[in-house]
Amino acid sequence: MKLLKNDYYENIGIGDIHAKVLAGERLSREDGIRLFDCPEPLAIGSLAHQVRTRMHGDKAFYVINQHINYTNICVNGCVFCAYQREEGQAGGFVLSIDEALAKIDSSLTPREIHIVGGCHPKLGLKYFEELLNAIKVRIPNVVLKCFTAVEIAHFAKIEETTTINVLLRLNKAGLDMLAGGGAEIFNPYIREQICPRKSTAKEWLAIHEEAHQLGMKTNCTMLFGHIESHEDRIDHLVRLRESQDRGGGYTCFIPLPFLTENSQLSIEKPLTGLEELRTIAISRLMLDNISHIKAYWVMLGVKQAQAALKFGADDFDGTVVEEKIGHEAGATSEQGLSRTELEEMITGCGCTPVERDGFFNEI
Ligand code: SF4
Repeated sequence: MKLLKNDYYENIGIGDIHAKVLAGERLSREDGIRLFDCPEPLAIGSLAHQVRTRMHGDKAFYVINQHINYTNICVNGCVFCAYQREEGQAGGFVLSIDEALAKIDSSLTPREIHIVGGCHPKLGLKYFEELLNAIKVRIPNVVLKCFTAVEIAHFAKIEETTTINVLLRLNKAGLDMLAGGGAEIFNPYIREQICPRKSTAKEWLAIHEEAHQLGMKTNCTMLFGHIESHEDRIDHLVRLRESQDRGGGYTCFIPLPFLTENSQLSIEKPLTGLEELRTIAISRLMLDNISHIKAYWVMLGVKQAQAALKFGADDFDGTVVEEKIGHEAGATSEQGLSRTELEEMITGCGCTPVERDGFFNEI
């Protein structure tokens, strides 16, 4: 993407923001809102690309990884969720430890295994400790990136213990880092409408900060394109940035576009492709203290994920193998991609593919 000249940014009313980005200065909440109001999304993309290039050059990271979804039975019943089933409902499943282990593709030798699921009313910590232990015995060097803060809060509730205690026990069993889901949008008014039973924003942030205090890395997300406003998106990004200032343990931010299929949430104006890209670009510009922005091809689709690599994102996620949550919501992407396919997608948009592990160490 070509860099645009300063007077161009002046002409579209964001010359001061361009100057701040060039100087490496932090953008304010008001700057973020103005970037959403700016009539030129390509200019925002170009600004984000400058930042991404300053941080990572033309590298685009990928990981040989695998997702395992252990259950879709969940007590939370979020309005937007296409994945959740009630206990006893047709289509509900819970994997036994052996079934979960059998899902691991031994031909792949994954560097990272991502495990998340619904908040099952009866699955206790013993199940998860056994699962993590068994995977670490089988693949000792794999990074286990598991559970959202919402699941951690749920485990604490059913075990009648603290979230710190849950984190300590799971960490001892092999948990390396937390997944980033469950953040949705932090504004409590929006949360009340789309996920009233889920952990609050305060709880979500507190659990991540507890993990950071224990020395664990975590990830963070934002679900956008439903009933939230641009102000809500900026508020979400600012709260993540403040949380990172306090603990520094977030490795990667994953912007998740809301997919409308099979959801009870009716949306007046579904996201356009350009709105997705603008939001990814603004995320890169606002989150000056989080190293990586993911172009999550499962939710974006591979072609849009390629475009995102030129709008501020630097990570293409990975092989994935089997994914249920995004696909139940209408994702039309493949279930998995091979290493060759990932590398071809990355080189196809002019970036250099760099294999990484779960902690973003280059391999
Ligand atoms: S989004 Fe997560 S917590 Fe909410 S109903 Fe779906 S599986 Fe449960």
